[in-house]
Amino acid sequence: MTPHFSRNIPHSSLNELPDTPFYYYDTHLLQRTLENIKSCIAQHDDYVVHYAIKANTTPTVLSAISSKGFGADCVSGGEIKVAINAGFDPGKIVFAGVGKTDKEIAYALEVGIFCFNVESLPEIDAINEIAVRKNLKARLAIRVNPNVDAHSHPKITTGLNENKFGIDIPHLLPAIRRIQSLEGVELIGLHFHIGSQITDLRVFETLCERINELQTELELHNVHLQHVNVGGGLGINYKEPHLEKIAPFCEYFEVFGKKLFLRPGQTLHFELGRSVVAQCGTLLSRVVYVKQGSHRKFVILDAGFSDLARVAMYGAYHYIENLGSSDMSARPLEYCDIVGPICESSDVFAQGRLVNQCRRGDVVAIRSAGAYGITMASTYNCRPLPASFSDLDFTFDGGKLR
Ligand SMILES: *Cc1c(COP(=O)(O)O)cnc(C)c1O
Repeated sequence: MTPHFSRNIPHSSLNELPDTPFYYYDTHLLQRTLENIKSCIAQHDDYVVHYAIKANTTPTVLSAISSKGFGADCVSGGEIKVAINAGFDPGKIVFAGVGKTDKEIAYALEVGIFCFNVESLPEIDAINEIAVRKNLKARLAIRVNPNVDAHSHPKITTGLNENKFGIDIPHLLPAIRRIQSLEGVELIGLHFHIGSQITDLRVFETLCERINELQTELELHNVHLQHVNVGGGLGINYKEPHLEKIAPFCEYFEVFGKKLFLRPGQTLHFELGRSVVAQCGTLLSRVVYVKQGSHRKFVILDAGFSDLARVAMYGAYHYIENLGSSDMSARPLEYCDIVGPICESSDVFAQGRLVNQCRRGDVVAIRSAGAYGITMASTYNCRPLPASFSDLDFTFDGGKLR
C-alpha cells in the first residue's frame, strides 16, 4: 500500500517531522479545488459562493480562500471577526445560527455584513430593535426549513421539521409579514441549508423543486426576493480520498443550473464548507504503543478525539494509512483497532481496520481531516491543541512504506 498523497518533493523525513499530532495542509490541492469551483461557476455570474468558516479557520487556509474572492458564511460573531481579519469582504458575509446574541447582531451590523439568515420570529424582532437603535437597516433572508431529508448522518441533518434550524413553511408568510412591518429590517432572500456530507445529488434536486414551489407561492402573495441561498452540504469521498481529491463541484452546480428557476435579477448563493477544505488536510500522528488484547490488536496513537472529534461525535469514517518510520522494512497488512489516548471509550478512530502493520514510533496519517478537524479540537484531558503546518512550511512525501 503506497501512500497516495505523495508529491515527491524533497522532504522532511519521517523522523524529522515536528512533534505529533499535527495537521498538515496541502495548499496546492486547496488551490486546485478553489480553481475548480471558480471554473464551474464561470458561466454563472449570478452565482456567489460563501465559504463556511466553521469548517476550517487555519490562517493559511482562510487567506487562500479569501484571496480568490469568495464570500464567507459565519455562524458566530467570532467567525465574522476571523473572516474579516483573513481578508473576506464584509459585504460578502452571511450570518446564520439559531442563537445570535445582541452583541453579535450589533457587531455584524457595525461591520456591514451582506445578510442575516434569520431563524425565528424573536430573532427578527431583536435584529430590528438593534438596527433601529443604530439607525441602520438590516438585510435579512429567512432560513426556511424545507423538510427535505439530506439522507446523511442524523447529527448532520438540518432540514427536517424535527431539527431546530429555520422557520417551518407554515410559519413563513407570517414571518415575512412581520419583517415587512418593521422599520429596521428588510427581506432580501430565502435561505436553506439541509445538512452536510450529502453525496446523493438528487437530494439537491428535491431541494430545488421545493424552492421552486415556494417561490411560485410567494409570488402569489406578492413577495419578490433578490436572492436565494441554498446553503452547503456537498459531500466528499472519505472512503477513497485518493480517488477523488476534488468534490464533484461542476455536477453539483449543474443541478441548480438545471433545476432551480431563478427570477430575473435574482442571485443564487452557496455556502460550501467541507467540500472546499476536507481533502487538503491530514492529521499526522505517531503510534505510541501497539497492544495485543485477547481479541484485538490495538494501535494506540498520540492523537485522540480532542484533535479530531468527527469519529467519536458522528461515527464518521476516515481513511487511515501507516506511513511507517525511518525503519523502512516491509510491513504486512493486518487488522487492528486504531485508538487515541483519551480516557473515554469513544476515543476510537477505526475498528477492525486493515493497515500496514504498526510499530511504536510509526507515523500514521488520518486523511480528509481538513474540514471540522482543527475547528472542533478541544483541550480535553489538558491536552494541547494540535499544531497546523502546510506545504508552505515544509513538505514531505508521506513516507516510503511498501
Ligand atoms: C455548516 C454550514 C454550512 C456548510 O456546510 P458543509 O456541509 O460544510 O458544506 C453552510 N451553511 C450553514 C448555515 C452551515 O451551518
